[in-house]
Amino acid sequence: MISLEEAQQWACDACGKPLVMREVVFLYLNGTFHVDLPACSECDFVFINEELATGKMAEVEGILEDK
Ligand SMILES: [Zn+2]
Repeated sequence: MISLEEAQQWACDACGKPLVMREVVFLYLNGTFHVDLPACSECDFVFINEELATGKMAEVEGILEDK
């Protein structure tokens, strides 16, 4: 998971604005999952790198399997 400190070191490519942590809702399989992700404060673009997306989905699958 990305920390706020890490997110604040990034800026939006398009706007040059610093990123803020934003709650994003994923629709995945049978459920919705709320996760905090870094997003641009200007254009609302949410930054998800492949590593994060893969890790998060693995985490979600783990949650589902535990049920
Ligand atoms: Zn932006």
